[in-house]
Amino acid sequence: MIISIDSNSGFCFGVTRAINTAQTELRNGALYCLGDIVHNGQEVARLEEAGLQTIDYDDLRTLPSHSRVLLRAHGEPPSTYWIARQRGIQLFDATCPVVKKLQDRIRACYEAHKNDEALPPQIVIYGKAGHAEVIGLQGQTNNTAIVIENEAQLNLLDFSRPIYLFSQTTKSVEGFQSLVEAIKSQFTDHNSPLAFEAHDTICRNVANRVAQLQAFARENDIVLFVGGTKSSNARVLFNHCLEANPNTYFLSSAEEMSESLINECRAAERVGICGATSTPQWLMEKVRDKLSLIPSF
Ligand code: SF4
Repeated sequence: MIISIDSNSGFCFGVTRAINTAQTELRNGALYCLGDIVHNGQEVARLEEAGLQTIDYDDLRTLPSHSRVLLRAHGEPPSTYWIARQRGIQLFDATCPVVKKLQDRIRACYEAHKNDEALPPQIVIYGKAGHAEVIGLQGQTNNTAIVIENEAQLNLLDFSRPIYLFSQTTKSVEGFQSLVEAIKSQFTDHNSPLAFEAHDTICRNVANRVAQLQAFARENDIVLFVGGTKSSNARVLFNHCLEANPNTYFLSSAEEMSESLINECRAAERVGICGATSTPQWLMEKVRDKLSLIPSF
């Protein structure tokens, strides 16, 4: 059995930057992180063992002044910065620069159109409602942005008003394009003066991985995709792997490998291990090490 780890899988630069910030700042004193630092339970547990304390918004409102709080790569709405200022909390802002740029674009769009009273604009975010990044993006519009996840939710939009569409950074390019086409088709009068602007703001750190990941999936008989159950990026990339190789399995840890999956791996010639932008390298290595200990036939 040949076991290989995909060299293109693992933390993207935004997540690496946030984790490096956490590790550096943990050396300088107690550190809280607002929400899970990464959508990977195993990596969160590792950093919590090193002293990082994960908190929620209620905790943020009651922390003593001068507490040190890390903002993760997903970014935050303006209200978080306001609360921190009010409470004298010291922030370590590890918002990914790609997310920050998207927040700025959405805020600029909101500011430019918020007073268009005759035809009130709709800022639409193609994303997962309630996702941390999406909460941060909605905050740029005073929470007026409409979040839709698929074409079935197009009924939330008013096609007699302008639409400015943006995307959460980890959504799929194909999904975005098909949503754009579906919105266009709703504007029945093609000479309509109504504005429809589609801004493809998907992070290429994710999108560019798809082709490489699918090529890797095809090279292997069995693919073990390692990712966190809370990660939307992991779900998207897993589905792309599955498309390329139906023998793809989702694991959040090495311990999740069932007896039947181990037997399937035993019978395979090539087993590939890959993961999402939130999957730590050490977790993929643990899966590899567990398989390496299996006596081959
Ligand atoms: S996926 Fe892209 S936008 Fe999201 S944290 Fe990573 S680099 Fe930043």
